[in-house]
Amino acid sequence: MKFGGTSVANIEKIKNVAHIVEKEVKFHKIIVVLSAMSGETNKLQKYLDEIHSESSIENDLVLTSGEQVTIGLLSSVLKRKKINSLPLLGWQIPIITDENYEKAKILNIDKKRIDLFFKQFDVIVLAGFQGVNSKGFITSFGRGGSDTTAVAIASVLKAERCDIYTDVEGVFTTDPNIEVKAKKISQLSFEEMLEMASMGAKVLQTRSVELAMKNNLSLQVLSSLTKKEGTYIIDEKNLVEKEIVSAVSFSKNESKITISGIPDQPGISAKIFGLMSQNKINVDMIVQNISQDGIFANITFTVSSKDHDIAKLVLEENIKILKYKSLHTDKNVSKISVIGMGMMSQTGVAEKMFKTLANNSINIQAISTSEIKISVLIDEKFTNIAVKSLHDVYNL
Ligand code: ASP
Ligand code: MG
Repeated sequence: MKFGGTSVANIEKIKNVAHIVEKEVKFHKIIVVLSAMSGETNKLQKYLDEIHSESSIENDLVLTSGEQVTIGLLSSVLKRKKINSLPLLGWQIPIITDENYEKAKILNIDKKRIDLFFKQFDVIVLAGFQGVNSKGFITSFGRGGSDTTAVAIASVLKAERCDIYTDVEGVFTTDPNIEVKAKKISQLSFEEMLEMASMGAKVLQTRSVELAMKNNLSLQVLSSLTKKEGTYIIDEKNLVEKEIVSAVSFSKNESKITISGIPDQPGISAKIFGLMSQNKINVDMIVQNISQDGIFANITFTVSSKDHDIAKLVLEENIKILKYKSLHTDKNVSKISVIGMGMMSQTGVAEKMFKTLANNSINIQAISTSEIKISVLIDEKFTNIAVKSLHDVYNL
């Protein structure tokens, strides 16, 4: 069981978690993975920003401290309920990682040690989002990394399932803040969840879904506040039905960059995207048109808005090398995606999407597709209307 920051945000909520664990421990031994109280890790990150601290031993030491508080508190409440509980930090298992501070990868988790702890204890309350490297220093897994801790531990223990408790009842067909008719999805494949997680549906860290898929570990996303079943994320083979479209996602954190009048020569894309990668800028959609005159081409691509300024600067600084005529950027764009396993074997899904947008006079600025997803880039001001009308047209 994993409980996120909103489920352990104060003592009352921690007591509620203890209550859920108490009911479950009658049937199983449990590892409970916890996040820090909500807002806590942000606060710690702000301290680090204030002193311009660089990724290092110190950063991870500070960032992972919030989890130490919540596991101590929960374990203490469990003990008062006469539950035999043991609080552990990542290094005490140990969860061994590589040397990359702030984005460490898990190398090994010793199952024998966990079995040993379980000989004496019924509940292990484990701090999420952290491990230890070969030098003995604490490392962290990137923001939202407690999900990855939970999935990794559950995989090692060959658990039947990993339940991720949060403040929503599951994964929804779209953001209920935009479309009140949004519904909780009962089942999703790992692939669909991955598309949604990387689109910024913040329920699960993308990495944790990748890991669950690799280990074929079923997940359930559910609320710690209601007793309802949540959304199951499972192997495609076990889906009761493959929906043509399961969800409509959107991301407003996109920026569009258009480079016009670039010499149409081999190697030019490699140069542009080489510059992006050297500056650690992640590129998403890419559209390159054929030059009509065979001399000049245009390239449009998107980056996340936090990288907009640096991407623009890098391109401006390299105008002599890239030899383009003009550069245009736009922060006010939004990416809308429809996602579903069933579209792999269905025709007309894209047409329906494009028609719906056209009927609402929404211009499509770029398109990208995968087997189970169609994404379009549009003016940000049309986000809500696009999401609502697509949600309607696919009968979600
Ligand atoms: N506390 C960490 C964060 O806020 C890890 C987590 O909550 O998953 O990113
Ligand atoms: Mg989270």
